[in-house]
Amino acid sequence: MEPVGIYLHIPFCASKCPYCDFYSLPAREEAMDRYTQALTRAIANCPYPAREVDTIYFGGGTPILMGPKRLERILDALTQRFTVDQKGEITLEANPAATLLEPLTALRRAGFNRISFGVQSAVAEQLKLLGRRHTIQMAEQAVNQSRQAGFDNISVDIMMGLPGQTLEDGQVTADFCMGLGVEHISAYLLKIEPGTPFARRYTQPLEEELPAQLYLQTVAQLEAAGYRQYEISNFARPGRESRHNLKYWNCDHYLGIGPAAYSYWENRRFGFPRDLEGFCAAKDPWALASDWDRGGDFEEYVMLRLRLNEGLVFTQASARYPHCDLRALQNRAKPLAAHGLLTLDENHLALTPQGMLVSNEIITRILG
Ligand code: SF4
Repeated sequence: MEPVGIYLHIPFCASKCPYCDFYSLPAREEAMDRYTQALTRAIANCPYPAREVDTIYFGGGTPILMGPKRLERILDALTQRFTVDQKGEITLEANPAATLLEPLTALRRAGFNRISFGVQSAVAEQLKLLGRRHTIQMAEQAVNQSRQAGFDNISVDIMMGLPGQTLEDGQVTADFCMGLGVEHISAYLLKIEPGTPFARRYTQPLEEELPAQLYLQTVAQLEAAGYRQYEISNFARPGRESRHNLKYWNCDHYLGIGPAAYSYWENRRFGFPRDLEGFCAAKDPWALASDWDRGGDFEEYVMLRLRLNEGLVFTQASARYPHCDLRALQNRAKPLAAHGLLTLDENHLALTPQGMLVSNEIITRILG
C-alpha cells in the first residue's frame, strides 16, 4: 500500500489579512492549549487503520504561533498513532518575523524538516495593502534564521495580480525570493473571496490583462533561474517539489485533521466543519466530519493531473481507469492544442503556461 499524507489545520493567526478566507481565529494561549489537547486526542482516536505516513503538513492559519512545545506534542501523537517514515517530509507554515531562531531550532530538532513562509511581496506598499505584519527585512531574516536552525528545504509564497501591482513589482518580488536561495516558490494569483474585507473594498472585477502578464512573466523568470514549474502555481529546484501537495494533484490518499481540514481517504472525500469550539468540545470529533462526495473518479483525476506540468499520462490514466474514454478526450483536446493552450502527444496531455491561465475552461471543454 502506498504511504499516505496527513494535513493538520492550525486555525490561529496574529491578525486577519483582509483578503484571506481561510479558517483562522486570534491566537490566544488558552485556545491553543485546548486545541492541542483536542487534536492529540483526535489523532489518538483516529478511526482509520494506521497506514504508513510519508508526508505531514501543518497548515493554517499560522501554525508556528502554537510554539515548539505544542507542535512537538502533536507530532509525537502522530508518530505514536501512525508509522511515520524516517525520511518523511514534515512541513510547517509560518509567517516571517524577526526572532525565529530559537523556535525554529527547537522545531528542527523535533523533526520538522520543511518550512513554508508567507512572504507575499517584496514591495513595502503591497505588504501594507495585504495587511501583512512583516517587513521585507523580516522575510530575509526569517529565511536566514531557518538556515541557521538547520532547515535545508524552504518554500516561500508570493502573490500576483494585487491591485496597483506593476510588472516591475512582480519582477522585484520574484528576484527577491530567488535571491533568498530558497528551494521552492509558490506564486498565486489573488482571488477576491466573497465575505472578505477585500470583497467589500474591490466591488468591481479587477483587471485581467495585467495579472495574466504578471503570471507569464513570473513563470519565465523563475524557470530561467532553475525553478522548474511543476504545477500551475508551484516552482521548485530539482527534487524539491512539495511531496505532500503532490498527493493532492495525484489523487493520492491523505487525512486532514482539525476544523476546516478535509480528507481524501479510500475514495471518500470528507471534511470537518469550520468550528474550533465544536471540535474541542466533541467527545469524538471524527463524528463531526461529513462526506462531500465520493471523489477519485476519472473526471476528478483529469482535473487534478492537469494542474501538473507533467499533465495527464495516458498509460497511467488507463491503468487506473480501464474504462475511461481517452480517445474522445484527445479529440476534444486537439483544437485547444492547435491554439497553444495544451501540448498533446501519444502519451501526454498537458496545459501550457497560457493554458494554465484558463485551466478551468479548458478542463471543462476536454471533459465534454
Ligand atoms: S496569516 Fe495567512 S492564514 Fe492568517 S489571515 Fe493572513 S493569509 Fe490568512
